[in-house]
Amino acid sequence: MKLDTKLVLAGEPSPRILGAVTLPTFQSATFQYRGAPGEELRYGRYNNTPTHLALHQKLAALESAEAAVVTASGMAAISTTILALLRSGDHLLAQNCLYGGTLEFFTRDLPAAGIEVTLVDGSRTESWSAALKRATRAVYVEVMTNPLLEVADLQGVVEFARAHGLVSIIDNTFATPVNLRPVEKGFDLSLYSCTKYLNGHSDLVAGAIVGKAALVEAITAKLKRLGTCLDPHACFLLYRGLKTLALRVRCQNQSALRIASFLQGHPQVRRVYYPGLPSHPSHIRASALLDGFGGVLSFELHGGAEAAERFLERLRIAVVAPSLGGVETLVTRPVATSHRGVPPGERQKLGISEALIRLSVGIEDVDDLIADISQALEHAG
Ligand SMILES: *Cc1c(COP(=O)(O)O)cnc(C)c1O
Repeated sequence: MKLDTKLVLAGEPSPRILGAVTLPTFQSATFQYRGAPGEELRYGRYNNTPTHLALHQKLAALESAEAAVVTASGMAAISTTILALLRSGDHLLAQNCLYGGTLEFFTRDLPAAGIEVTLVDGSRTESWSAALKRATRAVYVEVMTNPLLEVADLQGVVEFARAHGLVSIIDNTFATPVNLRPVEKGFDLSLYSCTKYLNGHSDLVAGAIVGKAALVEAITAKLKRLGTCLDPHACFLLYRGLKTLALRVRCQNQSALRIASFLQGHPQVRRVYYPGLPSHPSHIRASALLDGFGGVLSFELHGGAEAAERFLERLRIAVVAPSLGGVETLVTRPVATSHRGVPPGERQKLGISEALIRLSVGIEDVDDLIADISQALEHAG
């Protein structure tokens, strides 16, 4: 089956429960259990209600993976995975540009738990051997950096991990299985913040781990002890949201490219960051790896922070809010949100200026979005 069919069909119980075309929610914390041989104990925290199991099957099918498990948030997927696979004395190699929460977890909590982390350049995997230790267990990367959208040498990461017997882990939140299926490319585990595109409606917080059965089993055992499970109602909403993932993401790919091209030619705009543009440093690599360039783009305005703030104030369609991946267009100024805690000197080194804007393109009509951006830019100048 192709991806679009799996999104609708995979995970559906056969036969359907009382013929229900939509999988019902099993909003039950516990289930009858007598402890008979082979009888499975079902309990909310064990993530094994029928709603969970259907969702796990659908998520695994999207990447032709052996297994999947959902979690209370994207951060729960990341923390539960790392804590399940590494222990005190172990070492993790991670890309140096990471989602803020992940970077804090890696640089604060892991060292406190006796797990050493070395940050490496994701686009130069040939430099990774120097950072390798006897205790290295896993490598961790993101499909695209935020907010400049650089794509690491993902095939190099897979080969490096294989050559050294390490578990390869990728955060695929920005690409989604529509644009990249990491497990099909050889990654052991692919992680998601389902809060973003997978659910797609900005109405829940959830995460997922997709990949090898033995690893997902070990992570699920840890999840039961940490309590990083997902509530059945959130499972139901995520299962429903997933059905339209391909329609949403393909629309967002197209609209983001249209908007990026429009911005690139605009006199108020100093620079545009979108991997779909030939001017982006990762364009060639992204074109080879991805089926689409995603719905997030960033751009820098002339006129500094004041111009950027005037632009945000003037927008009528886009909502000024953190997060991304919903049906509604969201816009942020990274120095005021995701990179607020990063000192100005560091931000400058990363290329994140005061006038940088990040846009998560929704599914509104793209001509409306461009008209709105256009009028806001005129007032920003
Ligand atoms: C949002 C996000 C996360 C964290 O997800 P939550 O659901 O907010 O916990 C992790 N990685 C990336 C790339 C994200 O965008």
